[in-house]
Amino acid sequence: LEPEAIPSESVRDEYQNLADLVRKYRFAYYQEDEPLVSDAEFDTLFRRLEELEALHPELVSNDSPTQEVGGEVSAAFAAVEHLQRMYSLEDVFSLEELEAWITKAEAGIAKLGSPTAAWLTELKIDGLAVNLLYRDGRLVRAATRGDGTTGEDITHNVLTIKEIPQQLNGSGFPAEMEIRGEVFIPSKAFAEFNEALIEAGKAPLANPRNAAAGSLRQKDPAETAKRPLKMFVHGIGARNGLPGASQSETYKQLAEWGLPVSPYFEVLGSLAEVLEFIAKYGDKRHSLLHEIDGIVVKVDDFATQRALGFTTRVPRWAVAYKYPPEEVHTKLLDIAVNV
Ligand code: NAD
Repeated sequence: LEPEAIPSESVRDEYQNLADLVRKYRFAYYQEDEPLVSDAEFDTLFRRLEELEALHPELVSNDSPTQEVGGEVSAAFAAVEHLQRMYSLEDVFSLEELEAWITKAEAGIAKLGSPTAAWLTELKIDGLAVNLLYRDGRLVRAATRGDGTTGEDITHNVLTIKEIPQQLNGSGFPAEMEIRGEVFIPSKAFAEFNEALIEAGKAPLANPRNAAAGSLRQKDPAETAKRPLKMFVHGIGARNGLPGASQSETYKQLAEWGLPVSPYFEVLGSLAEVLEFIAKYGDKRHSLLHEIDGIVVKVDDFATQRALGFTTRVPRWAVAYKYPPEEVHTKLLDIAVNV
């Protein structure tokens, strides 16, 4: 979009109202784990905010929602500083937009003189991001993403997740490393958990994402321990002495040390292969271990990631493709079930 002249009063009003609404919805989603609108509705509002800012750059301020990573730190938890900042992801909502993003990124990578792009392509797990701090192979702290700089200390809750090793297996551990991943409730376990709640006369949980977030942000770890939580690694923060020239290579090492690495990722060499991956998982997205809301495409090579860097909110070396919402389908199903 080409920037336009000074925004009119009505554009300023629209912008202000939208920004307030986005903040309100973010608060309900991140702090209360109870969204007020669907993700698709939220994404549409956020997109409009970005569009207004592209048209009228002077509307952008440091505290604009587009310049910040979504969450905050609740007073219910101790605040902890991440060693390295955590980011969100740039979203695209169509295959055309994804193609444009990859084509532009490939041109940028070629200009850097980096090797041909290899795309680490992963499922976008619909859960909650955590940051695990390991010192000499021992888990010493776990935190939520929070505002990206400061997260919430949820160490006691994370220690109840059996799959997350408190002590890594093997040797050669870095002095310090931050492992980022997504905590989620597997779809089958979610359905069973909800059935048990209903049988006990309790209200079922709304969806696996909010259930995972709510479970992990319990004040009492004994409550978290009752929830069927799992995690898959999807990123690395501080990596003082961690071997590996690419993210996929590092995943291999992390898996050897006992960290849960997703079985679903692939390293792909071209846009055509990425599109095939999207079609494949689009078809079977409801028969996977966990819910997904899209696909994440990342530059695999660490040196290229470093050269591309970050904006204030997202890495320039990764993009999330979101599958189209399926609300109509769900509503029809609901009606069918109710009849
Ligand atoms: P995001 O969910 O679009 O992307 C960033 C996050 O994706 C990461 O922090 C990480 O937790 C997660 N992720 C999952 N799989 C990943 C993988 N393989 N690699 C890397 N990251 C992976 O961004 P966000 O800032 O967390 O949230 C924005 C999204 O949350 C919106 O697009 C919207 O859908 C939803 N949201 C909804 C509401 C609502 O009211 N319904 C409010 C706020 C946000």
